[in-house]
This record gives sequence, structure tokens and C-alpha cells, in this order.
Amino acid sequence: VPYYRRDADTPPDAAATERMRAVKREGTKPEMRIRKALHARGMRYRVNVRSLPGRPDIVFPARRVAVLVHGCFWHQHPGCASATTPRVNAVYWRPKLRRNVQRDAENVADLAELGYRTLVIWECEIKRDAPRVVERIVSALSSAGG
Ligand SMILES: [Zn+2]
Repeated sequence: VPYYRRDADTPPDAAATERMRAVKREGTKPEMRIRKALHARGMRYRVNVRSLPGRPDIVFPARRVAVLVHGCFWHQHPGCASATTPRVNAVYWRPKLRRNVQRDAENVADLAELGYRTLVIWECEIKRDAPRVVERIVSALSSAGG
């Protein structure tokens, strides 16, 4: 029995669906690593802020810094091995992924209009060197004032 509901947004084959689920499942972990590390350093932030464009993953409202933790597949990390379009059902995936990338760009522009600086963090960067990602966020915050 499939766990997912079949609807208009469900890809038509099981393999692609399984891949999608795997990416999503895996996707929450790297962000948690960063959140925990920031918290341990005394950083306080809000998560999944619905009132801001694109519902940023981590937000430092006083410093007007938004952090987007992007899954490399869903958000098509340029040049990343994880960002390939599945060959099966490419007709389904290609426009979907393209829309994601487009929406991301719009969100960054909208955040900028609200005075927010956006840091995009890719999941593969977290896997490769989480402490370095944390440093990047910390130094962006210290240069943001507030
Ligand atoms: Zn990547």
C-alpha cells in the first residue's frame, strides 16, 4: 500500500515517487544540524516563517537575514551531482523543477524588497562541511548589524 495519496501532483510512476520521498526524508536532516549548531552558539531564530516570501527555513528577524536551506535536487543546485533531472518522466519533472528554481529567485527578490538579505545554503554543503556553513551564517549575521 502506498503511503502517499495519488493526486494531480503525484508523479505517475513508483520509482520517481520513491526517489521524491527519499529526497524529502533526507532533506529535513541537514537543516536540523545547522539549527542545532546555531542554537548551541546562542543564536536565536525563527523557523519556517510563513509571513515572509517563500517561508524561509531560518530567519533572524532583528538582523533581517533569511536562510534558505535548499535540497540540491528540488532546487536544482547548479553543477551539483544531486541536481540531475530524472530520466523517467522527464516531461513531468523538468517543468516542475524549473518552476521551483524560478520561484526561489522570486522569493529572494521579494525578501530583498522587504530589506532581507538571503543566504542560500545547499544540503550538499552541509553534508560536506557543516561547521563551515554555520560560520558563514554567523559571519553574515555579525555583518548585518541590528
Ligand atoms: Zn548540491
